[in-house]
Amino acid sequence: MRAYRAALLRFDDEGRPVYDADGLLVVGPEGTAGEAGSGGANGASGAGRIRVVRAAGPWSALKDRFPGVTVEHLPGRLIAPGFIDLHVHYPQTDVIGSPAEGLLPWLEHYTFPHESRFSDADYAGQVASFFLDELQRHGVTTALTFATSHPASVDALLGLAQARGLRLIAGKVLQDRHSPDGVRDETEQSLIDTEALIQRWHGQGRLGYAITPRFAPSCSDAQMQGAAELAARYPEVWIQSHVAENRDEIQWVRELYPDARSYLAVYEQFGLLRERAIYAHCIHFDDADRALMQATGAAAAVSPTSNLFLGSGFFDYAAADRQGMRYGLASDVGGGTSFSPFHTMLAAYYVGREGHTKAGLSLAPSHLWWQHTAGAAQALGLSGVVGNLQPGCEADFVVLNPQATPLLARRSAQAANLEELLFSLIVLGDDRAVQAVHLAQPA
Ligand SMILES: [Zn+2]
Repeated sequence: MRAYRAALLRFDDEGRPVYDADGLLVVGPEGTAGEAGSGGANGASGAGRIRVVRAAGPWSALKDRFPGVTVEHLPGRLIAPGFIDLHVHYPQTDVIGSPAEGLLPWLEHYTFPHESRFSDADYAGQVASFFLDELQRHGVTTALTFATSHPASVDALLGLAQARGLRLIAGKVLQDRHSPDGVRDETEQSLIDTEALIQRWHGQGRLGYAITPRFAPSCSDAQMQGAAELAARYPEVWIQSHVAENRDEIQWVRELYPDARSYLAVYEQFGLLRERAIYAHCIHFDDADRALMQATGAAAAVSPTSNLFLGSGFFDYAAADRQGMRYGLASDVGGGTSFSPFHTMLAAYYVGREGHTKAGLSLAPSHLWWQHTAGAAQALGLSGVVGNLQPGCEADFVVLNPQATPLLARRSAQAANLEELLFSLIVLGDDRAVQAVHLAQPA
């Protein structure tokens, strides 16, 4: 076992922050009995096993319960759950910052040509390695990511993630129509490949697989039906796709499916809404769509830097809450502009504040943070596993330095409470504030 003494943030089951200004986090291998003085567990005895949170709380209350456990004292630092990115495209790492007239031209001119290079496993591996470095550098310890339509792009990424001990979920993109040569796949083979990848990767260590129809316009009816059949056969596997991002895209879906009640209803018709189904964007929804998300257990990956960059629109938090729809935060790189959870949380604040297309509101800093940690875990069906630091959770956590830059140090020193401290980090923080990233399964 090992313990860390610092300010400590986690969340209760209702998503409220639990905070100790002088806290203690005790981590150790899962499945060992007893907590107190379990004799020299600080060493090789837990090697290779997942470490979990054994205790979290005020230093004063816990310090005598763990005699003999080494305590790393980190004065002035904040320990928080590792961040979860609910929607990102690892092959678009090099597409960040590509200007375009909205979503569809951006796909055509930048994204599809770039993704076609991922048929080359060596190239995919190079990008995957850089991508994983970026996630970890920014404190992201779990991600749900698109690969490309090439099975080799999944193997490259998940092989590297497994070697690092990262909890990563990924899937081969399905796109058998309205897609250029180089990324378009073939219906039957794409489903055979998907099932083979599920069997190869899902549940291997900390890895998961996500069935990944790119979006309704890119998948034939047969491919959508095949994806849904796999999703029914493998209920523990995730589904990831896009919905209701951009008005031109929605118009296109309306032309392709004139009888569907809405864009979201197309996915429902095929049987692709369920628990563990994560849909990016969910901007241009009505209340019937939101109620459908709630009823099926599907969740939204809110992608604010991407939505602002591509001018797609503003996620309506108040309406989502009214319907009880689940959501969490995502970078959506490369439509998104940053791997930094701080930048994503700040952009989510901007999106919440926007009051011209919907009611504007001021999201609490702890609620922004929850969306990128415990809330994102809830959306994934991984509550109590990642995204939190309550006892039993996998010990993925970050050590943050609120003194990382002069302005952040100055502003955070004047924070009168937790919300002000978190907001100083959200507004002024970046990778420089991430002092250390600890994984439950050290490489
Ligand atoms: Zn996306």
